[in-house]
Amino acid sequence: MSAPVLPPRGVSVRVPAKVNLELRVGPRRSDGFHGLSTVYHAVDLFDVVTVEPAQEWGLTCLGPYADRVPTDETNLALRAARAVAQLAEVDEAVHITIDKTIPVAGGMAGGSADAAGALVACDALWQSELSRAELDEAAAELGSDVPFLLTGGTAIGSGRGEQVVPVLTQGTFHWVFALHHGGLSTADVYAEIDRLRDGEDLPEPQPSEELMAALRAGDVDRLSLALMNDLEPAACSLDPQLQQTMAAGLSHGALATTVSGSGPTVAFLARDRAGALDLMVALSADGIADDLVHARGPVAGAQLLSDVTVR
Ligand code: ATP
Repeated sequence: MSAPVLPPRGVSVRVPAKVNLELRVGPRRSDGFHGLSTVYHAVDLFDVVTVEPAQEWGLTCLGPYADRVPTDETNLALRAARAVAQLAEVDEAVHITIDKTIPVAGGMAGGSADAAGALVACDALWQSELSRAELDEAAAELGSDVPFLLTGGTAIGSGRGEQVVPVLTQGTFHWVFALHHGGLSTADVYAEIDRLRDGEDLPEPQPSEELMAALRAGDVDRLSLALMNDLEPAACSLDPQLQQTMAAGLSHGALATTVSGSGPTVAFLARDRAGALDLMVALSADGIADDLVHARGPVAGAQLLSDVTVR
């Protein structure tokens, strides 16, 4: 008699990319991080992180960017899974599969998203029922953007970005992302901003009232005037092609543009879905970016796609 087919024991979590609607960078702190005031916005460009019980720890990455993702212990998702095992006092290994759609080193927090996904997936797999505070603390240790990707939506990030408070927003905003596969190292971009601003007296970074009002009203025109990223000059200085990409999008009718996080992804705000699709067609004809993606925000943070099936 053949063995019964058992249901899978894996848990999958879907986790979004982010764009920074505002990113104000203060001076470098004594711990090496910069003080930030940022407004994160989660968009519907997702990685799916699946964890399954395994004899040994391991990771596989699928998708077009797989060859640029480390599969060793430096992978943020593996580090996150090990953090949950330690907190929950579980002595079991998992194999992680990342189905990757978020660009790598694109300023959209792909690695942080995978870490948030692995935290939620392992917590569910092992039924460890970690408190939200424990998950947030583990997330903040893994990286400054990780707590936001647990939360999603639109949120203010302060400290080095790890202290997250949700922001009231209305409606859905449409974005076109122009991807540049070259990638920019976040550390290099911060070093460049330090170089460009050397000697300047920098104010304490704070979220702008105008941006908060635009989000509360769900007003795309006001939002278009409020996008702002202190890292943009540094990213453009390291990759001058970004300026051409931004100018091209504006000439084709984008309401506004900003570099996403530390770049090199360029985000364009469109009036609506039709505006976003028109912009994609025009930019695609220009051949200016390696890839173009339409995405909407805000969307929820890390979400379970399947529940644990206990055999
Ligand atoms: P951020 O916007 O948070 O600055 P990013 O989107 O620019 O990040 P990531 O895609 O997170 O960049 O990748 C940055 C580097 O992190 C990669 O070059 C890679 O070496 C490493 N890394 C570690 N874990 C992962 C992961 N799960 N996915 C992608 N990159 C990872």
